[in-house]
Amino acid sequence: MKSKRKCSNCNKEFHCNHGNRLYCSNECKNAKKSNSQQKVYRLLREFRKGYLANLKLFEYLNSIGQNSLPINEANAFGFNQYSYYGTYQDERGYPMYKVGPYFFSIIKKSDKLFVTLSKP
Ligand SMILES: [Zn+2]
Repeated sequence: MKSKRKCSNCNKEFHCNHGNRLYCSNECKNAKKSNSQQKVYRLLREFRKGYLANLKLFEYLNSIGQNSLPINEANAFGFNQYSYYGTYQDERGYPMYKVGPYFFSIIKKSDKLFVTLSKP
């Protein structure tokens, strides 16, 4: 049975001869695929950038023996609180985020947010 369907890429109507075809043509199929790959690459690039900035910042803090920094100062170093790999809970149940060998938490002290390195 043939039915009409809208292409998921160009929105044109096409006759669908297979039950689950989403695109009117291979061109549209490939265009959509490369589009979503680019989205993934952009996301990964952004994550990588933030992750590396976090790692660099934590290595620096560690090397000068400091374990806490106001978040606005951390941000100036390119800190990105969403770039981490893994979440853990400290003994009080607060989340810690893993970046390489480091764990950080965002802690509020007298109305100011601090990026704080912690040990699991
Ligand atoms: Zn199409």
